[in-house]
Amino acid sequence: MILEDKSIQCCVCGTTFTFTAGERRFYASKGLTNDPGRCPKCRKERKQQNRGLSGSWSSYADRAKLSREFQ
Ligand SMILES: [Zn+2]
Repeated sequence: MILEDKSIQCCVCGTTFTFTAGERRFYASKGLTNDPGRCPKCRKERKQQNRGLSGSWSSYADRAKLSREFQ
């Protein structure tokens, strides 16, 4: 299988980013056959959000922020 760099448009911010051959190989090695829909920046932001959701609920500020996001 020959993998080449590929330009993909981010589904979140619309930025065109390069899905490099190395990244594609890495994805394939994980069994992921779909191209990523998000640019690296949006992927990182999403990861941080997920961490926030599964993290501590002790802070009132965090709870207020989360309830805003869920509305
Ligand atoms: Zn993006």
